[in-house]
Amino acid sequence: MLSGVTRRKLPSRCLWGKVTFLPMSDLTCARCEREGGRVKAPPVPGDLGRRIFDSICQQCWQDWLKEQTAIINHYGLNVLDPKARTFLLERTENFLFGAQNADT
Ligand SMILES: [Zn+2]
Repeated sequence: MLSGVTRRKLPSRCLWGKVTFLPMSDLTCARCEREGGRVKAPPVPGDLGRRIFDSICQQCWQDWLKEQTAIINHYGLNVLDPKARTFLLERTENFLFGAQNADT
């Protein structure tokens, strides 16, 4: 019988370190609803990055990168500015997952 103690001790975060060893399995993209390859690694920090990695295909991510560049140019954003980065992360989420939370 497996005691389970060893498994318990591993927080789910341990999976994080193993991401690169996972097979590059396809996923059904949450945005375009097609099957596609996932991005190679979570492309942004935190929960959003993990959601992108888990549910957004490479093609949609590439689409967003183009859109992001257009937004940066349009607003003249300085990507080193924390406010600009927050703004871009919100835009990222809206672009990929739709505007779901209606705060502000
Ligand atoms: Zn997609």
